[in-house]
Order: sequence, then C-alpha cells, then structure tokens
Amino acid sequence: MSLFWNARTKNLSPYVPGEQPKSARRFVKLNTNENPYPPSPKVMAAIKNAVDGELRLYPDPACTAFREAVAARYGVKLERVFAGNGSDEILGFAFGAFFASARDGDDGGGAVLFPDITYSFYPVYAKLWDVPYRAVPLRDDFSVALSDYAPPPGGDCGGVVIPNPNAPTGIALPLEEILALAKRLEKRGRVLILDEAYVAFGGNAGSGVESAVRYVDAHPNLLVVHTLSKSASLAGLRVGYAVGGEALIEGLCRIRDSFNSYTLDRLALAGGAAAVSDAAYYDEINRRVVDTRERVAKTLRGLGFTVLPSAANFVFAKPPGITGAEFFSALRERGILVRHFSGERVADFLRVSIGTDDEMDVFLERCVEVMDGFAVRSGK
Ligand code: PMP
Repeated sequence: MSLFWNARTKNLSPYVPGEQPKSARRFVKLNTNENPYPPSPKVMAAIKNAVDGELRLYPDPACTAFREAVAARYGVKLERVFAGNGSDEILGFAFGAFFASARDGDDGGGAVLFPDITYSFYPVYAKLWDVPYRAVPLRDDFSVALSDYAPPPGGDCGGVVIPNPNAPTGIALPLEEILALAKRLEKRGRVLILDEAYVAFGGNAGSGVESAVRYVDAHPNLLVVHTLSKSASLAGLRVGYAVGGEALIEGLCRIRDSFNSYTLDRLALAGGAAAVSDAAYYDEINRRVVDTRERVAKTLRGLGFTVLPSAANFVFAKPPGITGAEFFSALRERGILVRHFSGERVADFLRVSIGTDDEMDVFLERCVEVMDGFAVRSGK
C-alpha cells in the first residue's frame, strides 16, 4: 500500500498470470497454455521482413492489413473486425465499452453474468471499470448451464461473458445454445462477449465445437474474441482480434482511442496477418495437439485421475488421493510446471497444458513417480 496510490489503485485486485520461469533450470512448461509447436515459417518471415527503417514510423492505428486478413479468413466485413494487443486487451476494452458502470450511473439492467469457475481476469476487469457482476455457479459436473444466463421474461441483466470452451475446465458448449442466448440478450439490448481463446482445439473431441465468428451478421450484440496466443503459437507477439456487430467494433475503437491509439506494433501486425492467412499450417499442428490431449486424458484416467472432457489445449485433472497443491509441488520439484488454482471447488485439480508428445511422456512418467511416492497409484 503506498501513500501515492489513489483509492482506485488501492482497491484493485490484479490478475496473477501463470509463472514464466527465469531460472536456468529447465522446466517442462505446461502452465500457461502456450502451443508447443513453433509459429508458421511464414510468420517468422513476415516479422523479419518488417524489421526495416519503417520502424521509425508509427504503425497503422486501424491495423487495416491485419484486419483484412481476418476478414478474408472468415468471410466477414472489415468493419466487423477489431484488433488488440492480445485478447486480454480486447476483453478489458469490452468491459469498459458495453457494461454499465456503477460510476457512470447509467441503467445497465443489473449485474453482468459470467461463470464462477472461469477465466480469472473477468472479475478483475469488472472491478477496474466498476461494473457490477454476478458469478453464476457451474453445474456439479463443471459444465456451464446457459439457461442460468438468459434473462427471464420481463427480467434483465447487465450482459454476459462466456468462454467457449470454458477455462480452466476445457468444457465446451454447443453453438446453437450460445446463439439462442445471444438472441435473448439482444431483445434486452445486452451484449454477449464470447471468449473463444481455445475454440480451435475443439475438433476431434466429438463435441461439435464450432466458432460463432461466421454468425455475427445475425447477432448485432455478439462479440466473438479470438487470440493468436494459443492456436497460432504467438503468445509472445501479443495479438488478438474480435469479430462482432459494427456498433460494437466502433465502441471498442472509442475506448482504445481514449487510451492508446497504437496498440499493435509493426512487427505484430505483420506476423499476425501472416498467421491468420496460414490456416493449413495451424490446422495441422493443432490437430496434433488435440491427438496428444486425447491420449494424455486417456492415460491419466487409467492412472485413476478424474479428467474433465476437454475441447481445449489443456486438461483439467484431479489426481487420486493427493491434494492438488501437493501434486503441483511434487511435479514442480521434478521439473514439471502445471497450473494450480486455490478456489474451493477446483483446489484438487491441476490444469495441464498440452505439450509435445515427448513432453507429455515425461509429464506422465513424473505423475507415476509422484503417485508411487505417495503410494496411491491405482491398482496397487
Ligand atoms: N481468454 C482466456 C479464456 C484465456 O485463458 C486467455 C489466456 N490467459 C486469454 C483470454 C488471453 O489471451 P491473450 O491475451 O494472450 O490473447
């Protein structure tokens, strides 16, 4: 606490990102859902090509070339695409642009709704912008009950934020249900933010996971948010985009241009455009991630873990007979970094990002060692 902080800063409870180890010790890093495969060679070439004297000039504040690449990939109008410095920035702008703040005193229909177990940045943004919110409990099986988010006839809410698939559970929802919720919210003039950070990993899961990006024309209140951090192997470049109704995109631009007009630099714009234009490369590496996920989930279940059905590039798994905190520490001592959350219902789970097959083999071996250490290996 500092004398120099204003009341807003004092009252913040900032997001805590997963550990990015700096030590010389090498970890198998399975804690922040990065893609284990490198970015497309076309991305590297585009970034290298952008390293020239033009760096003395500001980048295009409208991010036009990058947005054109997104628009072409999904067959949507350029005016329906917004670019941001990672999807976190876009989510942060969206909370400020569309949800009524207690401070501004406008009638927002009440609390914004999102799941109680979800991406832990949502409540941080809500507090930053003074947006009242309500965390809606997941069902007992950790799935999102979308009916809990639809305003009842005559009722209202301040808007809804849903990640599909959800994090850290990895559980996905059918697209039809999401679009039906968007319609209900549209009638009340409320926005649905659909965070599809992990949607590209839905394939093969038999869950029929599909992006809502192609449906924004029919839903002016729907903002679909994507990131290049996971499925495009570009967490280090900080690029995200949103596709949605033109009024929503304009609202995001108003917030951005009241904050920082140049959110994406020249290298990020070049690399980002090359990434969204190389679907073939990314479809291939992400199919490998999905295959590895299915194998790891099966092996963990065989070892006695409870593994939630994941459509993402991670699994959320509960070890048998050992607390999540103990298992996390035991893995860390053995050079494996995973993510552990302390919330009541999730404290016994670990979120394990999917690495290469070799990395996951090491992870599985270490799991067996840890279980042997605790003498709880199933079947013994
Ligand atoms: N949404 C979800 C659900 C996430 O897990 C993450 C990654 N932490 C993000 C958004 C943000 O991703 P980025 O800012 O790297 O685009």
